[in-house]
Formats: sequence, structure tokens, C-alpha cells
Amino acid sequence: MATIAFIGLGNMGAPMARNLLAAGHHLTVFDISPQAIAPITAMGATAAKDPSSAAAAAVFVISMLPAGDHVRQVYLGPEGVIAAASPGAILIDCSTIDVATAREVNAAASAAGLDMLDAPVSGGVAGAEAATLTFMVGGEERAVAAAEPILRAMGKTVIHTGGPGNGQAAKICNNLILGVSMIAVCEAFVLAESLGLPAQTLFDVASASSGQCWSLTSYCPVPGPVPSSPANRGYAPGFTAAMMLKDLRLAEIAAADLAIPLGSHAAAMYAAFVANGGGGTDFSGIIQGIRRE
Ligand code: NAD
Repeated sequence: MATIAFIGLGNMGAPMARNLLAAGHHLTVFDISPQAIAPITAMGATAAKDPSSAAAAAVFVISMLPAGDHVRQVYLGPEGVIAAASPGAILIDCSTIDVATAREVNAAASAAGLDMLDAPVSGGVAGAEAATLTFMVGGEERAVAAAEPILRAMGKTVIHTGGPGNGQAAKICNNLILGVSMIAVCEAFVLAESLGLPAQTLFDVASASSGQCWSLTSYCPVPGPVPSSPANRGYAPGFTAAMMLKDLRLAEIAAADLAIPLGSHAAAMYAAFVANGGGGTDFSGIIQGIRRE
């Protein structure tokens, strides 16, 4: 069993860390919030006073942080993980961050003789709890192979997407598809309502036709057709609209001069929904914003 440092014990990191403990690994953990640390140490993890102390004796360092700035703060500089990590340690950042930061931090690790992977996830809190996450992993093949058994204690699918930053690239492109397709599905249901076409009928037709997609058949934004979707529980998340907005903004940043007009429009719609108080709502709840327009 491996000695693992885990940094960032929030909604995603806490259940991921619990699954590593359940698999028998030794965990040293750090979070800036003492409340986040307590439940994990109660399960057998050791608390560290900062990221570098957590990393010092670890064979794998895993982080699950809000955004790129937090990742820089944790990994870079004289007090950071890269300066403290043991030779041969593999650094794995599972946060969803911008591609440029992922590549910059990877290059700093590489310059220090360490392998680093960007390994953002899909599957949300439910996937983190059930250890069914999908990991999209950018980095060197040998490091991916060494990390795979550790990732498999937290998820069921590990896809090597290429070199450094390509995990983030895959995550951002996937969520661009998801954000745009969810809005298209919501608009179709709102239009169907106005035309007197029952939601179940649209679902039956579109799910067996060329309109079929995950946003429709796995995560239907109206109550009824897919009983497990957040629409059946008042749009409790799931994956919040604020998170979707964050990921669409990352796609816009990554696109730079490349036009992604539907992605940009989707980002503007999510920004308006969040500004109207919808940030904590599941992202499929944007159908409520579309009905109001
Ligand atoms: P969260 O805000 O619940 O957790 C982040 C944790 O990081 C918090 O406990 C916070 O105290 C800690 N933290 C912040 N700065 C820190 C620092 N400098 N050092 C140590 N700890 C620090 O966020 P989350 O929902 O767990 O999401 C984490 C990442 O996973 C994000 O990048 C998010 O985009 C991505 N993600 C989230 C979901 C989801 O459904 N929540 C799904 C897929 C991907």
C-alpha cells in the first residue's frame, strides 16, 4: 500500500480521500480548512501542517483544489510541494484548472526531476463517493502507468489523453459539449411545452432519434422521463451551474483567438443564471432561466 499526500478535502477531495483510505493506503492530508481535515483524520489519515510537510514522505501527491491559482500556490515556490517532494514521487493534480497553468506547473515539476500528471475528473460528488470517477490524464506514459492503480481506487475509468495539460484539455472540451448540449435540450423542452407537445413524448421521440445525447437521456432537465436526474429533486446538485460557468470560462480562456460562439453564448447564459441566484442549483436547472426569458 502506498503513502499518499492528499491536499484539498472539499466536496470532491473528501470522498476521494476516503476511498483511498478504504483501499488501505496511508494518507497524510492538508486543507486550509480545519473542518475539512477533521472527518478524514477520524478515519485514520494523518494531518499535516502545510502542503510541503504532507508531501515530504509521500510516493504520490494528489490535489483536488478549486482553481489554477490554488494549484500554483500549493505546488510552486520554496514552500511548495515540488520543492518538498521526495525523488521519484508522482504528483497528480485532479482539480479542473486552465490548461496553461497545468502545463506551467508540470514544467516546474519536470525541471525538479519529478513526474506530474493533470488528472481532472468527470462524475461529480456522486462519482467521487461511489469511486466511479473518470480520470482524463495528461502526462508521461510511465507516470500514468504507475498512478493508474491509485486512480482506480477512486474511479473506474482512466484515459491517458496525451502529454502535460491534455487531461485539462479533454475535460474542458467535454464540458463545452455538455454546457451547450444541456441548453439545447432545455430549449427543446421549453419549445415543446409552448407547442402543446408533452415532455414525455418529446423524450420518447428524441431519445430514439438524432437529438439523442447524454443531457437528454441520462440527465433530462424536466422531471419524469429520467427518474435519477436532478429535475426530479428540485434541481439539487449534482453539478452546479457555478461549476459549469467556471468550466465554460476555462474553455473561452483556452480558445483565446479561436471563436467558440456557442460556448461563449452558453457561458453568457450561465453567467446570467448564476447572477440571478442560480449558482448553487444543478446546471440542468438553467431550464428555469430559459422559461423566464
Ligand atoms: P470545494 O471548494 O468543495 O473543495 C476545495 C477544497 O480545497 C476546500 O476544502 C478548500 O478549503 C481547499 N483549499 C483551497 N485552497 C487550498 C490551499 N491553498 N491548500 C489546501 N487546500 C485548499 O471544491 P470541489 O467541489 O471539491 O471541487 C474541487 C475541484 O474539482 C475543482 O477544480 C472543481 O472544478 C473540480 N470538479 C468538481 C466537481 C463537483 O461536482 N464538485 C466535479 C468535477 C470536477
